[in-house]
Amino acid sequence: MLSRLAVATPRSLSSSAAVSAKAETVKMWIDGKAVESKTSEYIDLTNPATNEVIGRVPKCTTAEMNDAVESSKQAFKSWKNTSVLTRAHTMFRLQALIRRDMGKLAANITLEQGKTLPDAEGDVNRGLQVVEHACSVPSLQLGETLNNVSKDMDTYSLRLPLGVTAGITPFNFPAMIPLWMFPLALVTGNTMVLKPSEQDPGAAMMLVELAKEAGVPDGCVNVIHGAHKTVDFICDHPDIRAISFVGSDQAGKYIYERGSRNGKRVQSNMGAKNHGVIMPDAAKEHTINQLTAAAFGAAGQRCMALTTVILVGEARSWLPDIVAKAKKLKVNAGHHADSDVGPLISKASKQRVEKLIAGAKKEGANVALDGSNVVVKGYESGNFVGPSVIAGVKPNMECYREEIFGPVLCVMEAENLDEAIDIINNNPYGNGTALFTTNGVTARRFTNEIDCGQVGINVPIPVPLPMFSFTGSRGSFLGDQNFYGKAGMNFYTQWKTVTQFWRSDDAPADARPQMAFP
Ligand code: NAD
Repeated sequence: MLSRLAVATPRSLSSSAAVSAKAETVKMWIDGKAVESKTSEYIDLTNPATNEVIGRVPKCTTAEMNDAVESSKQAFKSWKNTSVLTRAHTMFRLQALIRRDMGKLAANITLEQGKTLPDAEGDVNRGLQVVEHACSVPSLQLGETLNNVSKDMDTYSLRLPLGVTAGITPFNFPAMIPLWMFPLALVTGNTMVLKPSEQDPGAAMMLVELAKEAGVPDGCVNVIHGAHKTVDFICDHPDIRAISFVGSDQAGKYIYERGSRNGKRVQSNMGAKNHGVIMPDAAKEHTINQLTAAAFGAAGQRCMALTTVILVGEARSWLPDIVAKAKKLKVNAGHHADSDVGPLISKASKQRVEKLIAGAKKEGANVALDGSNVVVKGYESGNFVGPSVIAGVKPNMECYREEIFGPVLCVMEAENLDEAIDIINNNPYGNGTALFTTNGVTARRFTNEIDCGQVGINVPIPVPLPMFSFTGSRGSFLGDQNFYGKAGMNFYTQWKTVTQFWRSDDAPADARPQMAFP
């Protein structure tokens, strides 16, 4: 097991493929090799707990990005014809290698992203499950067949890869989200150009290196770095057939529109505002524990975080208990064993979150717990915000309209379940929601009436396992095929339907062509 103190430092990070020992520049991954970019433009890579610069991320040049696409295009020619069992075997090996390197991956995530080490392992684990599911590709990619669609005529449908695909990922799950994308794209016979978040690309680099070790041929997955220009390149390149995007609304809408306009298939998972509804009959301790973990875990930087709670009826009196539980959480750098809440990703995020808390006060909300000025000993320069609870929140307040993406819980109240359902259904997002109750009838009614893509009943973060799909809806998703599971298989494959006619005897010499549409 990784020692909690053996945290990846800039030095230990530089021993991985992610950063070169000399320059500590994050490499590109092209044709199965870590390649130094020739760019003159870089983005600083910082440790969110200290704001120390631990590396630099290149903004790849157009020529380099073209090389990556060309490499994926060439690799596709043979990879698409590789036997399905060979592709499945690479996934079997990849899952074993990810398990082997779990500690290293988690340490890198904690260093670059800031989340606690156990949470970083969770990040890797939830991606690992997609790799495990991808091992079932021989049955998942089966097509359809029907004999005798006409006399001596049979039809079969094949599910074939698209070609070169692209993945654009956010900072908050540096391992899980790349693993939602490239394993499924590859195992179905596609190749992929991946653009990880410029804020924490290390885990993605380690994962593609593991893919090579697992037997994925060079060129099948390439990694380029950068920001908007890199994204535009992906949206516009004629050889890229599909784009998987996960991130904010602004980028997601832009990529969906620009990619679609260029004829690409796009799946775009975006922002969220997930509500938890607490009924007065809920198991109190269990519910408050679940809520606390779901609101403040990963410093609230999860798209499925429960960022808003609606206290229904007599549960309105639970506010002091919620505040008391939040107060007990330990804010510290993610590699410390006692840390419950790590730093936010950047100084800008910290400022933004603190501004939203201050704004809530001005708008008349009751900030029952304010973590704005938290000081973490030894990490005074880090991007920490302590758990914060804003009560008396109304739908028109900025703290409710915005996705806060910090350790801040908005508390609302409702007289009854119907009122709570109305609040949620009137919110533009539809990523997830959770109800806490001991009453099955209430639960059934909620499940039936609520307009969100992922519903938890006494489950605070209902992210489905990969035999299902991640089914965020409404304002949280653009596209018609969600990530992983059956929908993910559909996204990365296209149908080809073959109709064939075989008869041993020829037609009589005087037979006339059949001119009517058959
Ligand atoms: P982000 O949109 O800032 O970045 C995501 C990717 O898009 C990055 O690779 C980045 O380089 C690129 N990008 C950023 N701004 C861009 C722009 N204006 N034009 C083109 N490309 C741009 O997102 P983030 O801050 O890294 O991640 C947090 C967001 O992601 C939150 O909104 C969160 O809810 C969302 N998210 C959603 C899901 C989901 O499944 N729905 C999962 C994780 C995160």
